[in-house]
Amino acid sequence: MSYVQRVMEGLRAKYAYQPEFLQAAEEVLFSMQPLFDKESKYEENGILERIVVPERTVEFRVAWTDDKNKVQVNNGYRIQYNSALGPYKGGIRFHPSVNQGILKFLGFEQIFKNSLTGLPLGGAKGGADFDPKGKSDAEVMRFCQAFMTELTRYVGAVIDVPAGDIGVGAREIGYMYGQYKRLTSRYEGVLTGKGLKWGGSLARKEATGFGNVYFAENMLKAVGQEIEGKTAAVSGSGNVAIYTIQKLYELGARPVTVSDSKGCIYQPNGIDLEVLKQVKEQERAPLTRYAELCKDAQYVSVADYPAGEHPVWNVGAQLAFPSATQNELTLADAKNLLFKGCVLVSEGANMPSTLDATKAFLEAGICYGPAKCANAGGVATSQLEMEQNAGMTSWTFDEVDGKLKGIMAGIFKAAHDTAEEFGKPGNYVMGGNIAGFRKVADSMIEQGVM
Ligand code: NDP
Repeated sequence: MSYVQRVMEGLRAKYAYQPEFLQAAEEVLFSMQPLFDKESKYEENGILERIVVPERTVEFRVAWTDDKNKVQVNNGYRIQYNSALGPYKGGIRFHPSVNQGILKFLGFEQIFKNSLTGLPLGGAKGGADFDPKGKSDAEVMRFCQAFMTELTRYVGAVIDVPAGDIGVGAREIGYMYGQYKRLTSRYEGVLTGKGLKWGGSLARKEATGFGNVYFAENMLKAVGQEIEGKTAAVSGSGNVAIYTIQKLYELGARPVTVSDSKGCIYQPNGIDLEVLKQVKEQERAPLTRYAELCKDAQYVSVADYPAGEHPVWNVGAQLAFPSATQNELTLADAKNLLFKGCVLVSEGANMPSTLDATKAFLEAGICYGPAKCANAGGVATSQLEMEQNAGMTSWTFDEVDGKLKGIMAGIFKAAHDTAEEFGKPGNYVMGGNIAGFRKVADSMIEQGVM
């Protein structure tokens, strides 16, 4: 039995109840087999056995009162996965589906993603099974204050610096930052994604979506193609989806879909970005509202579509940007995309493609940008926010965007060159995983057994 198989068997026996974590571990570990065939030092130093286990997991009660003065209780978490390269860094997710297994998959991915950026960042993830949807601003504020009251013990500008994720945007970061400051009296870069008036960075809001399109541009260029003139399917309608669409328009593509948890919009002439921002960023309304405002938009309810398939992936787009959530793109969706001529899939969401969908993309030989390469622009720009905070300065939008572009080009080069080194040109899953892993693993060896 190979080293990877042995470690994977151990994980399956121990964590059968954490399917998303097992899925992420399987994708990463098996893709790196050629590295372990070549180098024995990782097995000799027990790196895989160590890297799959978080350095620290904190689970805590978050008690708060709703607008009717009723006590509510949620489970809060922070998983500090790996600090070989720098302070822990990774987002906070507020969604009813949050549990330890989901956060472990996200935290595990975050280790390699952060390493790929080339910046000094460890990997972490956190969140709570709290649903901000339908809550008043006052309820969200009380929840965030209660969450941060406990989290404060474990975070700090050079210890662990959380950011946003699903359900955590500028509003939530603001309430959490205020509470951290109140409890510690410290005005420091403990969170990223902050408001522009109080330590936030220009271009952070745009960074994950913009970065994903820059990564896609690099992949297409390598095969002699470009973004201009192509139609694009985008899923999700939150932070990542909105700024993916904005950059696609800037580069001359036509994004024709968006989705949320209930349905999707297909608009053959192109998504109306201003209406989308109004509905999602200001009104926080579902996409049925968007359909009311855009008469040429077709709304398809997910419930009316065959189970296991999503309408977004069946509109005949040449480019696909899954930007909603994990496992949103199945093998059936991959087949629909490929059948209708898709040439590129670039992942804005974390692990949006199932393992068999990923395999289908790799076998088809299209440009496939796995999340830990393609969506790393968000965390990279968070690090730029940390840098500005530490230097008590702020940079212009163009300065930050220029650095983001450079970082995405660097990630592409690392994944591209590593894939070639291991005899699989164009396989950015293997290239990204090995390039990200090597740096962390070598640092762990140099820092000793812990
Ligand atoms: P938002 O909360 O802003 O938006 C999430 C979007 O995805 C919404 O449209 C939401 O629909 C939809 N969605 C969420 N859960 C589900 C579900 N179970 N089924 C269908 N649709 C769903 O989050 P972000 O845009 O920030 O994050 C999107 C993805 O990108 C996540 O995977 C996140 O981990 C990843 N990511 C985000 C980064 C960032 O900087 N924000 C950085 C790197 C990765 P609805 O409103 O109906 O719930």
